[in-house]
Amino acid sequence: MREIRIFDTTLRDGEQSPGCSMNLKEKLDMARQLESLGVHVIEAGVASASQGDFNSVRAVAKELRSARVTSMSRALAKDIDSTWEALRHAKCPRIHLLLPTSDILLESRLKKSRQEVLEQTAEMVRYAKKLCEDVELSAEDATRSDPAFLAKVFETAIAAGATVVNIPDSIGYTTPEEYGNLIRFLRGSVKGAEHVAFSSHCHNDLGLAVANSLLAILAGATEVQCTMNGIGERAGNAALEEIVMALKVRSSYYGADTDIDTAQIYKTSRLLSTITGVKVQPNKAIVGENAFAQESGILPVGTLSVNLSYEAMRPEAIGLTTNHIVLGKHSGRHAFNDRVRELGYSVTLDISNTLFKQFKDLADKKKTVSDRDIEALVRSILAQEIPKSYALERYVINSGNTITPTSSISLTGADGARVEKVAIGFGPVDASFNAINKIVGKQVKLEEYSIGAVTEGRDAQGEVSVKISSEGAVAKGYGLSTDVIEASILAYINAINNLIYETTREEQ
Ligand SMILES: [Zn+2]
Repeated sequence: MREIRIFDTTLRDGEQSPGCSMNLKEKLDMARQLESLGVHVIEAGVASASQGDFNSVRAVAKELRSARVTSMSRALAKDIDSTWEALRHAKCPRIHLLLPTSDILLESRLKKSRQEVLEQTAEMVRYAKKLCEDVELSAEDATRSDPAFLAKVFETAIAAGATVVNIPDSIGYTTPEEYGNLIRFLRGSVKGAEHVAFSSHCHNDLGLAVANSLLAILAGATEVQCTMNGIGERAGNAALEEIVMALKVRSSYYGADTDIDTAQIYKTSRLLSTITGVKVQPNKAIVGENAFAQESGILPVGTLSVNLSYEAMRPEAIGLTTNHIVLGKHSGRHAFNDRVRELGYSVTLDISNTLFKQFKDLADKKKTVSDRDIEALVRSILAQEIPKSYALERYVINSGNTITPTSSISLTGADGARVEKVAIGFGPVDASFNAINKIVGKQVKLEEYSIGAVTEGRDAQGEVSVKISSEGAVAKGYGLSTDVIEASILAYINAINNLIYETTREEQ
C-alpha cells in the first residue's frame, strides 16, 4: 500500500478565495487543527506578498511541530530570501517555487523564452537549495504546457536539487485521463524522477479536481495538494476530505492510502466554516449537512439495511457523532463543556466561564441550544479576543417606513471614556454604522455584509459578518445576537477593533 502525502493549501490557495481571508490568529487556529488532522505539508501563505502574509507564515512556521510548513514564492532571489526568512524557524521547512511553463504565460506574463525559463529554474532552485533542504518546484499552467518542455524543466529542477515537482492544473482545464497520462509520461521520461516526489494540484472549474487528483495518484503521484472543504479561487481546489475518504474507502482499488486521522475531518471542516463564515453546501460530499442523512432516518426503513462495504463511510469515520444530546436551560456545566470539547474547541477557563454564562442566557431565550448555536457562541467569543479599542455601551434606533432611520450609539473607548453620536442612514443598520464612523473618526468603507440565521425557528440567533476597509487596510468582524440590528452593530465594532489592532501591530 503506497502512502500518499497530503499537502494542504487551505491557508494559501484556499484563503485567496472571496470571503475566506483569515487573520493571523485564525490562521494559527486552523494550522493547529490541520496538524491534528495529520496533513504532511501545510502551505501557510505567500510570505513575500506583504508584511501581513510574512507575519502569518512566520507564526505558523514557529508553531507547528510535526507538519512540514511551506510558503509559495516566485522564482526570484529577493522573494526566496523573504520566504526563507519567514520559514527558517520551522521544524520542517519547505520552499515552494512557482514558475510558469506554458507558452501562453511565457509570452504574456513572463516575457521569456523557454531557454531562459530553464536557466532561471536551475539558478533559482540552486539558490533556494542553499537555504533549505526541501525545495518544491511548481510548473504553473503545467497542463497547458508542452509535455516535452515540462519534462526538461523538471529534469533541470531535479538536477539543481528539487525534492518535489508539482504539476498544477492551474486553470482547471485538464481531464482525469489526460492528467493521469501526463503524470505517467513525466515519471517515465524525466531523468531522476525516481528520487523526487510527484505532486498534483487541481482546480475545480469543470468539477473534476478530485477525479483528476485520484487519476494522478493512480499514475504515480505521491503527494496531493488540496484544501479543506475544497475552498479556493473560482470553483475552488480539490477537496481534501473527498480525496482522503476515496482512498480510505477504496484503498485496495487505488493501492494507496493516507495517514490522515479521518476522525478529525468533520471537526476541521466545521472550524474552517466557523472561522471564515463560508458555509458548506448541504449536499457536499463527506462534510455536507446531508452527506450522512440516511443515518437520521430520512430514507425509508427498508433501505436502512446498510451495505457493509460502506462501513468505512459510517459517520464516525469522519468524526461525526450521531448521538446528539440536546442542550437546554437545565443542562449543567459539565455536559456543556463536554459538548464544546466534542465540537473541537479547546478554550481557556476564562473563556469557558463566559461561554457557559452566554449559553445559559441563550437557553433562557431559546427552547433548545444546538451545536450550531454553540459554535456561533464560540466564534463570537473568539472574535472578541483582541484588544478592544471600542465596546458597545448602548444603542437606540428610530426607524419606520415614513421616517428617516436614525441611530444613536454610545461606545466606550479603551480609556473608559464614553462617546455618543447620532446619525441617519438608508436603514437602521446604515444609520448605526454611520454613527460609529463619527465616533471613531475614520473613513471606513463597508466592503461586505452578510446576515444569516444560525438555526431555523423564529427564536434563532442572527449572525452578521462584515468586511471593512480604511486607508488600504482590511478587517473582518463578527456579531451574534437574537436581535439582528444588535448583531450588525457588534460585527461592525468588532471589525473596527480588528482594523485598529492589525494596523497598529503592523506599524510596530
Ligand atoms: Zn492553485
